[in-house]
Amino acid sequence: MLLTLLAEGSFTLVGRYAPSPTGALHLGNLRTALIGWALARQSGGRFVLRFEDLDARSREPFRDLQMADLAALGINWDGDPLVQSNCRSRYEEAFARLEAAGLVYECYCSRRELSQIASAPHTPPGAYPGYCRDLTPTERAKKREELAGKGRGPAFRLRTSKQSLTFTDTVYGQQTGLVDDFVLRRSDGVFSYNFVCVVDDAFQEVTQVCRGRDLLSSVARQNYLHQLLGSTPPTWVHVPLVLNQTGQRLAKRDGAVTLEQLRECGIESAQVISMFATSLGLPPAKTAEEFLAQFDLGKMSHEDWRFTPPVPLSAQP
Ligand code: GLU
Ligand code: ZN
Repeated sequence: MLLTLLAEGSFTLVGRYAPSPTGALHLGNLRTALIGWALARQSGGRFVLRFEDLDARSREPFRDLQMADLAALGINWDGDPLVQSNCRSRYEEAFARLEAAGLVYECYCSRRELSQIASAPHTPPGAYPGYCRDLTPTERAKKREELAGKGRGPAFRLRTSKQSLTFTDTVYGQQTGLVDDFVLRRSDGVFSYNFVCVVDDAFQEVTQVCRGRDLLSSVARQNYLHQLLGSTPPTWVHVPLVLNQTGQRLAKRDGAVTLEQLRECGIESAQVISMFATSLGLPPAKTAEEFLAQFDLGKMSHEDWRFTPPVPLSAQP
């Protein structure tokens, strides 16, 4: 059976890169994208793009900028990128299915209440302790009215029946992650990252997710949601992060970290790829194709990379 599938070419690996279009991509984003692309292409797979733009900070022009960044490194993708803000009806439909199955409830907790709850006893750190899970209809009506008085609406949470889930990450091995009653839809009506990520990975038929290891903690929730929605979870490949000088995850404010800023420092794409290869403990490469030809996940370093931004040419003596 498997052989037939392979022979027909229907068992194609599908990798994806899913940036939020909030600015130019930085070295951390780009290194992850390059690894994900190399992994997918190495096995003859497809590689798709998705813009996670439901957040208010996302801007349309950054989509073109990010595509230009990827293209400048030699990363290509199949088909048109999916843009989440165009897919709201799909999220509504999946949300309605969960609701119809009795798996959604309203949560009236404010951000402030939640931060106090975060330190509640008997609750794993970061987990929602289910305060709004078992309210009576009368209690709900009262809470709803209180919120409406403040001009707010409820958020919507998933009613889960597990507290944790074990999975295997290709790089970091067996992990057990938290599954709590996480938010599906925020009080402002915006669908949550975990929810749309799962709906879209299923929709785009993604079979392999490569992303920064800071998202390892989302896997258990996402696997759980895949089960509920009847989709097959992808295989997970979390990769080490690029850090700034103080050991934090690299951000745009950390200096010369985008391709444009690096160009201003005299650093071109070839050198960027070369830095990526070296930082991952892999053989030298100057193009995405060379990187791909030598890429070996088993030999890739699992350590984060602390990056020292170069000085712009204009500021050099
Ligand atoms: N949009 C997310 C980010 O830019 C990526 C989430 C994912 O890869 O699952 O951090
Ligand atoms: Zn609540």
